[in-house]
Amino acid sequence: MQKSTVVEASIALASGIVAASLGSELASHHVSPAAIVTALLAVVSTGLYVAQQLGQGFRSALYTCPVKGCTASIRAKDTSPAELDRLRSIATDHSKHGGPR
Ligand SMILES: [Zn+2]
Repeated sequence: MQKSTVVEASIALASGIVAASLGSELASHHVSPAAIVTALLAVVSTGLYVAQQLGQGFRSALYTCPVKGCTASIRAKDTSPAELDRLRSIATDHSKHGGPR
């Protein structure tokens, strides 16, 4: 299993556990079922969103230009090592992407 998948799965699982304990806590305080469901959906969807964003971070590479004041950056995802090299050279060599000097 890929590291990113493990991280995503554990965050998704953690948000499920938080949602379950929050659900029983709310139920013991006589909160209406509709309010409990709403709160649980919010917790779970936030957890899944965070898990997905983190997973993307692990799977992608970000190259930024070292020249001060230049905001050029390239994010690459699911690509070959050769293509990563090409993209890195474009992003880190300011003369290859122009912009303010
Ligand atoms: Zn640049």
